[in-house]
Amino acid sequence: MIQENESRKRGLMAHLSAQCSLCLEETPLKTSSFISKRGKSVDVNMRIVYHSIESGSGYEGLASVCSIMNMPCIKKTAYYQHVETILDALEVEAEIDMKKVAFFMCTPASKYPQKFFLLLLER
Ligand SMILES: [Zn+2]
Repeated sequence: MIQENESRKRGLMAHLSAQCSLCLEETPLKTSSFISKRGKSVDVNMRIVYHSIESGSGYEGLASVCSIMNMPCIKKTAYYQHVETILDALEVEAEIDMKKVAFFMCTPASKYPQKFFLLLLER
């Protein structure tokens, strides 16, 4: 028998367990993994927040989807913590990309690193 433990739910992550009808042994069923070993955030919540940012639907859009699916939504405070984490990561990536572009725009092709040409040959 599959059971859901409502009190151990984390945002969109359900806490399910399967119980054997003969020996009553209970086995937890993992529905999402933790983002880091120390943190309490689960992967599914970060992913759904990322989707809401990319689609432009924001918290209201996510809350609406959760309502349609008849499931409780992530708390607004948790949502904005995820937004901050994602935006920080996107900012770091954007800066790295911009530095790469600046390098290739300001450097003559003859001074490109050898590995740049190897990457072109791989395509
Ligand atoms: Zn059993």
